[in-house]
Amino acid sequence: MDANAVRDRLLKRREELRQRASEASADLRHEADPLSADFAEQVTQRENDDVLGAISHSAQEELQQVEAALRRLASGRYSTCAVCGEDIEPERLDAVPYTDRCRSCAEGGRAARGRGARN
Ligand SMILES: [Zn+2]
Repeated sequence: MDANAVRDRLLKRREELRQRASEASADLRHEADPLSADFAEQVTQRENDDVLGAISHSAQEELQQVEAALRRLASGRYSTCAVCGEDIEPERLDAVPYTDRCRSCAEGGRAARGRGARN
């Protein structure tokens, strides 16, 4: 595994996510698009806000995972499963560079307590 390449990839992803989260929250504050006086139009805007809120939320969630992956990378635990301590499959890290658990732990759901059972 090339730690530098992984770090570059994670840093790039972190930038994308930061941008996506900040764009979504700027839209949510209606900086460029004030709420309409028209009620029907407001309903549409608020539905759009729900979507934006979900985008912002998921970007922030992934951002935290990317940050955690960068910390694991720095401490040399990047490819170690946080649940069982085995090595995480390289192809899994390639597909989900911020994952902290191996495939069987991610699928087994034994990691469900604590930090959510996603990945
Ligand atoms: Zn595991």
